[in-house]
Amino acid sequence: MIASVFGGLRRRPWTAVCVGLLTSVAATAALAADCPGHPDAIGTSRTIVVDPRAHPIIGTMQYNKTLPLADREVVLTFDDGPLPKYSNQILAILAAHCAKATFFLVGSQAKANPEGVRKVRDAGHTVATHSQNHPTGMDRLPLDRSRQEIEQGIASVTAALADGTAPAPFLRIPGLRVNEGIEEFAASKGLQLWSADFPADDWRNVSANRVYELAMQRLEKKGKGILLLHDIQERTVAALPRILRELKVRGYRIVHVVPATPDRPATPTEPQQWQLHPPSEVVATSRWPKVPKFASAGPASLSVPALSDLDWCTTDLGGRAARRGRGVPLPAVAPWPRQTTLPPAGTLAALPVPAASVFKIPESARLTLLASPANLAASTAQARATEVSSAKLAGKSRRPRHAATAQPPASAGETAQAPQSAGATTPKPATQARRNGRSVRVAGLKKR
Ligand SMILES: [Zn+2]
Repeated sequence: MIASVFGGLRRRPWTAVCVGLLTSVAATAALAADCPGHPDAIGTSRTIVVDPRAHPIIGTMQYNKTLPLADREVVLTFDDGPLPKYSNQILAILAAHCAKATFFLVGSQAKANPEGVRKVRDAGHTVATHSQNHPTGMDRLPLDRSRQEIEQGIASVTAALADGTAPAPFLRIPGLRVNEGIEEFAASKGLQLWSADFPADDWRNVSANRVYELAMQRLEKKGKGILLLHDIQERTVAALPRILRELKVRGYRIVHVVPATPDRPATPTEPQQWQLHPPSEVVATSRWPKVPKFASAGPASLSVPALSDLDWCTTDLGGRAARRGRGVPLPAVAPWPRQTTLPPAGTLAALPVPAASVFKIPESARLTLLASPANLAASTAQARATEVSSAKLAGKSRRPRHAATAQPPASAGETAQAPQSAGATTPKPATQARRNGRSVRVAGLKKR
């Protein structure tokens, strides 16, 4: 294999260029030699050896890592086989192109068609696994069930190989429906979890032409990557020859992937090669630098801030108001009272208790407060009229009703303040109260 030729090389910038040139020269030579009778075959340009334990998850459809491919390199993958009717045709098409691929086989299919598994292996493709029964929602299954699916799938394919060898430790979950538990289990088993870089939707009800179009469009967009196909679909059989021909026309190259073994070390790579598009010095990065972590120099014993430190009321609110483009501008001076110095806690108990009369609102004040200016004028006139008529009646009869509607007698403490406050807030109108729809003069003011 070409990869093993360069397996021992340590990559430096100049060696990387040399390796690239040598690889393409060797690949061209290999293609002519490896695919006799098929001058139009795309062939397999190189094989890379990967270590699943070093790179447990790949495929940019779900992860930020993928296979260490160069620009315009493509890895072909086929899921869900073997199904003799179509899988055999896929194998024949690949053979006519000397193109090597990776097959993710379903355990139950392998059990039903063990010969199909061996055909895949004998054709030089990589045999990998895709669960035992292809459950559609493995991410929702209990983890025990998922583990069982994975392990039984491997056991069934191993049994079908029938040569004591196991399939490659490459695993693809049906529908790519993984969860954290599945990822951790796969990693613990040394399995490399394969997603993909782009599908061609060949499992959907679309035409073969659409499969071809999607494969090429999505590949052109990413420039390289893992193509996800299915070898149990008639439309895939119909689309594959055209895809391979077009790949060659557009200058793409097929890369075969095999797992590392004690006898076959992994192809040396740099970490950035496992990214689809490694960051470049000439491409602007959108990642901002991380905020540094500041270490505290000493114990946390900051002093309590003084009230004067919080005197933010002096902020230039007028400036803010001037900058407002619409709406009501803010007042230049904050309307709320400024912070005043509070008396010491010990002096609070010495303040006098306010008398109940402080909170008492005289009737005249209530009238002034509640009435609108227009109503107030009308009420005042009416009050005077009532006062005159009541004065006439006053000398003739004193009914108990007057006493009941009069103000309650003031207490000793109230009498000292009530006249003062009434005099301060009431100009001249007589105080009255409305009761049962009739105006009644207040007894206390009758004598004025
Ligand atoms: Zn599948």
